[in-house]
Amino acid sequence: MSEQIRVRFAPSPTGPFHIGGARSALFNWLFARKYPDGKLILRIEDTDRVRSTKESEENIKAALKWLGITWDEGIDIGGEYGPYRQTERLDIYKKFTDKLLAEGKAYYCYCTEEEIEAERQKLRAENKMPIYGGHCRNLTPEQIEKYKAEGRKPVIRFRTPADQSVNFDDMVRGKMSFDSNGIGDFVIVKADGIPVYNYAVVIDDALMHITHVIRAEEHLSNTPRQVVLYEALGFPVPKFGHISLILGKDHTKMSKRHGATSVEQYKNLGYLPEAIVNFLALLGWAPQSEQEIFTIDELIKEFSMDHVAKNPAVFDIDKLNWINAQY
Ligand code: GLU
Ligand code: ZN
Repeated sequence: MSEQIRVRFAPSPTGPFHIGGARSALFNWLFARKYPDGKLILRIEDTDRVRSTKESEENIKAALKWLGITWDEGIDIGGEYGPYRQTERLDIYKKFTDKLLAEGKAYYCYCTEEEIEAERQKLRAENKMPIYGGHCRNLTPEQIEKYKAEGRKPVIRFRTPADQSVNFDDMVRGKMSFDSNGIGDFVIVKADGIPVYNYAVVIDDALMHITHVIRAEEHLSNTPRQVVLYEALGFPVPKFGHISLILGKDHTKMSKRHGATSVEQYKNLGYLPEAIVNFLALLGWAPQSEQEIFTIDELIKEFSMDHVAKNPAVFDIDKLNWINAQY
């Protein structure tokens, strides 16, 4: 039996639901739907408690439903699946943190923000990588007592293995290789006990048996940290596919200056969901024919990560208008 294909869409509910997020969701959905048994999981990454809002989560779910992007698993909320939410999974992360601490793969760091910043500036001045120097890597019990007495609240850092090459084969970008010495010991749990993105994402993707992580290119630089965490936790590493940025017609990063940027705005402007889906599918993915108007079934059949481009996709409103007019 071949492996079940499992992907996820993992938005942070911190604002309007952008076209870029919708495209990531769509690529994952198309990828899952190609396989009779493929599954798409929706996971709300709400660990940033200040910026996350319920309103934004509702907005994302409503936009996905409007576009016809459905998810297959989650918390049973009576005949329907609610998404997973990271803030409801803190006990799970803690179990793994305790294990990493017990194994010496993670440690408490009592350095203050100011001390860390001073260290960074010093390293930059010496033309060195501004990574954590390992001050708290091997603290004595006396030092720990002293820091505690001073009222310092520690973060937890991952002890990144030195001198390793961290490799992964990206579905879009090909073979990637990073030097672990450039990563340094990074924070996995903040002083308030909340895990950081790079840490929670690994535990969730592993426990949810995600086979393919398809997400925006902005996360490419996070992936080496995630790979070393997978290895330390003894989890199999999924395949990664980082899809390129979306640029405005003037080839600068898509922003409000270029017009509407959220799914909701396009909906309110009267665009049809089928046209938006058709248009988004063509943002960075090139079909093998000249065809430009696709039904959903055709998209599912034709879509392949093999034909997702490395170079940025350009958002062309004239093309969207043309596609919308065909429906
Ligand atoms: N929560 C992240 C974001 O919205 C998603 C990261 C990921 O897909 O791994 O950017
Ligand atoms: Zn420290």
